Amino acid sequence: MLIDDSGYVGDPEALVKEFWDKDFQKRRETLLPFFWSTIAKDGQLYGNRKYGNKADCSNQMWFSYPGYNEILSGFADDQNITSNDKINNPNTTILEYLNGQAAYKNKVAAFGSWDVFPYIINEERSGIYVNAGFKKAKKNLTERELFLNKIQDEIRGPWGGVRLDVFTHHYALEELKKNKPRVLYISYGETDDYAHDGKYDQYLKSAYQTDSYIKELWEFVQSDEQYKNKTTFIITTDHGRGTQPKETWKHHGKRIDGGGQIWIAILGPDTPALGEVKQSGQVYQNQVAATALAALGMKYDQPKAGKAIESAFKAVTK
Ligand SMILES: [Zn+2]
Repeated sequence: MLIDDSGYVGDPEALVKEFWDKDFQKRRETLLPFFWSTIAKDGQLYGNRKYGNKADCSNQMWFSYPGYNEILSGFADDQNITSNDKINNPNTTILEYLNGQAAYKNKVAAFGSWDVFPYIINEERSGIYVNAGFKKAKKNLTERELFLNKIQDEIRGPWGGVRLDVFTHHYALEELKKNKPRVLYISYGETDDYAHDGKYDQYLKSAYQTDSYIKELWEFVQSDEQYKNKTTFIITTDHGRGTQPKETWKHHGKRIDGGGQIWIAILGPDTPALGEVKQSGQVYQNQVAATALAALGMKYDQPKAGKAIESAFKAVTK
């Protein structure tokens, strides 16, 4: 619907060649090969509404800060989180919750492409290291971090408040190798910004690249002694952008029908291999926080939070 003459795509023919197939299964495998091979085989994918399997925001805002707050704190806060302004989050995220416990103190890190994350995670209060926006790596720099710091100055992305995901990804990967955090939060941002810009070709290419980044992270943890077969990935999105083509597709928020529709993917050693969940059901964004804590064998002590997704883990006795 978007690859036509409406200006969303620079070179329609090349894009069709790269990503199109009339078979929707092949099409989605081409776009997101890691999701539709490894995660669809060994993990879980929630949110294909074709099967009545629904994943939704419980906040009614359907844009970024409210979504990230819901993911990270476990509950919607439509009273206080009503804009994307750089306001320190009054709510405690699970990152802060974990960093407050002896076993996780200073072993929690966050990387994001968007420069609002230091406020969403409340870096000031939580004391968590948040590398977001155009922040550079600091302290005991590896050769790779020195190089990333240098080229981040030299490669100008299209946006003021959001850096290209390549920097977020490689800073985060380097953190995994160097400091071995027990909990790592990564937020990629490009797809959303390319959509706002009406660049559907770049949007698809970014989605494809994000899938490759997640694959690279997974291959690293599965090759590393500390992380191997002990690490769970929970992957989701802050909002949807509906299913209507043309102008509405570019945006999201309450006025866009379907803007609250999301998906959730889980991959890890304690996660039953349900693949793409084809039973009807409903999960919410506010369950992600408790699900992440359940992966660590913990119950989230936050009455406002959604419950952990029950089918996410096999019963583990600890
Ligand atoms: Zn957006």
